[in-house]
Amino acid sequence: MNKRLSAILARIVSLLLMAFMLLPIGCSNVNEQTASAGTEQSDESSEVNSTEQFTDQPTSEPTEDAARASTRQPTLAPTSTPSASPTYITIPTNSPIPTARPTNTATVNPTSKPTATPKPSAAPTSTPKPTATPKPTATATPKPTATATPKPTATATPKPTATPKPTSTPKPTSAPNQGTSETIHWNPSWRYADRSVIHTGSATLYHTSAAHPKHITVCVNAGHGTAGGTSVYTLCHPDGSPKVTGGSTSAGSVYATAVSSGTVLLDGTSEAAATLSLAKKLKALLLNYGFDVLMIRESSDVQLDNVARTVMANNIADCHIALHYDSSTTDKGMFVCNVAQVPSYLNMEPVKSHHLQHEALASCMIAGARSGGMKIYGSGSFEFDLTQTSYSTIPSANIEVGDRASDISSSGQYAVAEALVLGILRYFGG
Ligand SMILES: [Zn+2]
Repeated sequence: MNKRLSAILARIVSLLLMAFMLLPIGCSNVNEQTASAGTEQSDESSEVNSTEQFTDQPTSEPTEDAARASTRQPTLAPTSTPSASPTYITIPTNSPIPTARPTNTATVNPTSKPTATPKPSAAPTSTPKPTATPKPTATATPKPTATATPKPTATATPKPTATPKPTSTPKPTSAPNQGTSETIHWNPSWRYADRSVIHTGSATLYHTSAAHPKHITVCVNAGHGTAGGTSVYTLCHPDGSPKVTGGSTSAGSVYATAVSSGTVLLDGTSEAAATLSLAKKLKALLLNYGFDVLMIRESSDVQLDNVARTVMANNIADCHIALHYDSSTTDKGMFVCNVAQVPSYLNMEPVKSHHLQHEALASCMIAGARSGGMKIYGSGSFEFDLTQTSYSTIPSANIEVGDRASDISSSGQYAVAEALVLGILRYFGG
């Protein structure tokens, strides 16, 4: 009985187990199918690009979808092709994948396009070459210009410094027999040096190069030409005694202007300029005759007052010739300012020791001018108490070579200079 019962029970149990095993398998298959169908639909609808289709399609009929699609077309038209949309909407379930894949191939093409872009990158590699060629030309041109320009400017600047020397061309034309020269500076230890107030300037001593030098130095003093000379004063006489005659400074004066401004010739030339041009001509002739020449002034200005000029001549030269043009306008001719024949004056040093020399020189200068055919004013000699002769310790003459109406052309002044040389030659015996 037990054996039969256990066999029956075992069979019942096995039947129950089989029945139990069959039930769960059928439920799982249904769930998987519905889930997969839902996801596929959602993907297709997303490609058609409308969320409304995703919700409408399950419940709506195909005819309704076609009608809705025709009504929706206006809204969809901007993004999708309108004529194809009616047929596409019925098809979606059949051939959604083929339409989707072409879009994938389209996305693949862009990746192939980048391979085409490397080609343009090959073109840029050709552009570096043109950039390389401009560089050599740019670097090559600046270098030659940079090195070339400094050199000409460096060589050009020394040349201007060399040209000032050629400006001394008046020397060769006016003085073929000019030798060496030296600058004469003021020496405060000179006699009467302390009576001078303007003496910062210097004079120049020119030595003759003539075959037979005379070893005689003539001081050529171009009258006037000292800036500031009219605003300061010097003693008329070294001992401070008053002037005995009138002139540019009246008689009785103790002080006189250091250097007066001078007159102006009728053609507008200043007396200082006229005496300067004459002095240069006289200098050239004297050098040619074998004299050495002390030039007090060789430009429009020299800072040496009348006392300084006289003191410098006293110590450097053998005679002193001062050149002036008188203030008259009659072209009256040349004359010499001779020493005033006043006892007090003739007894005052240095006039006392040297007035005979001044007088002798004055007479020789007039005689020489006459022999040279120069027009002479009156007797050619007039008495004056001048600063020049009041301080001179060498033969000294203040010569009025003419007046404001005189011929100061080059030939006219050379004639005067020749006449003056004749007087100097006469004085020195030769
Ligand atoms: Zn004068």
